[in-house]
Amino acid sequence: KPTLYVVSTPIGNLKDMSYRAVEILNEVDVILCEDTRTSSKLLNYYDIHKPLMSFHDFNKEAKQKNAIDILKSGKDIALISDAGTPGINDPGYELILDVIEHDYYVVSIPGASAAIAAIISSGLLIQPFTFIGFLPRKKGEQKTVLETYLNRKETIVIYESPLRVKKTVETLYEVFGDRKITLARELTKMFETITRTTLKKAITIEHDIRGEYVLIVEGSDDPVDLSISIVDHVKQYIEEGHE
Ligand code: SAM
Repeated sequence: KPTLYVVSTPIGNLKDMSYRAVEILNEVDVILCEDTRTSSKLLNYYDIHKPLMSFHDFNKEAKQKNAIDILKSGKDIALISDAGTPGINDPGYELILDVIEHDYYVVSIPGASAAIAAIISSGLLIQPFTFIGFLPRKKGEQKTVLETYLNRKETIVIYESPLRVKKTVETLYEVFGDRKITLARELTKMFETITRTTLKKAITIEHDIRGEYVLIVEGSDDPVDLSISIVDHVKQYIEEGHE
């Protein structure tokens, strides 16, 4: 049965590619990628020479149709993104759904993802964690989203552009108060920097505006237990001696 392989690629260090990923990219008929120039660099490094088709946020609807037609003709496709795992804050989700809907195979070839790499070295609780990805850009909307996590114990994983790190850290401090934060910058690359600090200190640090960042924020140490009802919460509150 024709197959869409969703292939993870490195997040910086070209060597973070699995043997299987190389094998699959050499076997498929077409490779869908976000930016053909970025992907050519990786594919040349591994001596992979296959037809590339661009597939990004601005052409994905039309290209999705092309992809289904390619599968219909009995060929296999691989989907890669500029970095890491396709679908994780990268195009791919709708294509995956469409391929499943058309009853072709979807096979995930796992590998690097900045979120997982970042949380592992963060020094913060690994389970449970919540992956937010990119927050809205506007401060008000950012706060609204963050407030929904205020009383939750999960570690929070956020992707952020270097130019907005400073502002986002300020908003995090406004919403959460002082908590631990780890800023993971340029993971797997030459200038990888992991800063394990607190939000209070982080708002005073000059963050390098070059490079890519993942922000990992500690969860609440006084989480609301969602398994009990609001009435029970109130009862518990009174029992604890509050008026
Ligand atoms: N699909 C990717 C993944 O699996 O992680 C994410 C793509 S998203 C468009 C790009 C964001 O991922 C960046 O803004 C940054 O937050 C994060 N990122 C990607 N590579 C990174 C790296 N080497 N170090 C730190 N963050 C990285």
